[in-house]
Amino acid sequence: MTAMTSSARPADPAGSAARPPLNRRLAEFGTTIFAEMSALALRTGSINLGQGFPDTDGPEEIREAAVRALRDGRGNQYPPGPGVPELRAAVTAHQLRRYGLTFDPDTEVLVTAGATEAIAAALLGLLEPGDEVVALEPYYDSYAACIAMAGGRRVPVTLRPHEGRFRLDLDELRAAVTDRTRLLLINTPHNPTGTVLTRTELTAIAELAVERDLLVVTDEVYEHLVFDDAEHLPLATFPGMRDRTVTIGSAGKTFSFTGWKVGWVTAAPALVSAVRSAKQYLTYVASGPFQYAVAEALALPDDYFDAFRADMRAKRELLAGGLEQAGFTVFRPAGTYFITTDIRSLGESDGFAFCRSLPERSGVVAIPNAVFYDHREQGAPFVRFAFCKRQGVLEEAAKRLRKAFAH
Ligand SMILES: *Cc1c(COP(=O)(O)O)cnc(C)c1O
Repeated sequence: MTAMTSSARPADPAGSAARPPLNRRLAEFGTTIFAEMSALALRTGSINLGQGFPDTDGPEEIREAAVRALRDGRGNQYPPGPGVPELRAAVTAHQLRRYGLTFDPDTEVLVTAGATEAIAAALLGLLEPGDEVVALEPYYDSYAACIAMAGGRRVPVTLRPHEGRFRLDLDELRAAVTDRTRLLLINTPHNPTGTVLTRTELTAIAELAVERDLLVVTDEVYEHLVFDDAEHLPLATFPGMRDRTVTIGSAGKTFSFTGWKVGWVTAAPALVSAVRSAKQYLTYVASGPFQYAVAEALALPDDYFDAFRADMRAKRELLAGGLEQAGFTVFRPAGTYFITTDIRSLGESDGFAFCRSLPERSGVVAIPNAVFYDHREQGAPFVRFAFCKRQGVLEEAAKRLRKAFAH
């Protein structure tokens, strides 16, 4: 009361007209495209292939494990800051079983509120204001905002189409590194392009990081979604990388529980400690009972991971086939559950305009890749479709797209 009455100006909860309430660091970000496109999907009764979440839940036994934890009173109160011991042990066992990487569950693992918090905490904990972050463009939408919140400067290196995939230009990557570069922010398998970085590309990234003494933050949430001959190679397995890499994983995509928000970081103790310093003041802890369930999920036999991959591969074929028949140029993804297309083969060039009219024209919603670029013009003709949906939904979407565009 006193604060209000002592002010000469009338109270204005939205801030003065001269100064908009949103700070300058975040002003450029606005609301995400997903909100606009999901609203459009609802209004037009369209099939939403915009946002990348599965339309069926993960394994029944893992859901039951969460129920059991809840009933048994495990995780209903603040779990330990670094994560419950069972999950930290499961993360290290998984890294060892899949990749031969050894981590200490007590000092080298941190459980986070999804990969999203891991990304935020890593950038907030590792960057000084003004530090440059070299990141692969197009990028996952939270990267740019988190770099900005941490006071860093983003330096995009654009992945460009080459022989059917989006490729990293190693010379451009080298040229992007300056004396102010603090870290490389990598994502493989890559959303939205579906690229899985090759051994050659990853070797070059690792050599550059070692040569210029850079940290690497690598988002590997699609580590289990690689198809055909593609192989997921964690950056931490490359020479000189074990102790300069912060690896980020998540249960959301691998186990089809995106609402649980269980993610993790593996890294050397000093790096985990830096990430934890930021994380403890973001959520402190999250997802208590789900942490126990995810510990069981990570220990599932290889059959689970193989079946998941085979199912998603079949769905990729279904949607890619439909898009090709409709006339899109399709970049068949080597990983993730997204297909990036080029709409120039349909005589279109503006992905934004295309995605805004697509629901009316076809009854399907997609996302313009341009939103994932700083160099928007580079992403203009590309449009992303998610295929983590039921077979019948994908069949119907493919039918609608063929009807709207094929002649
Ligand atoms: C979905 C996604 C995330 C976020 O993962 P959560 O565990 O849901 O927070 C992070 N990075 C990429 C590339 C993603 O696609």
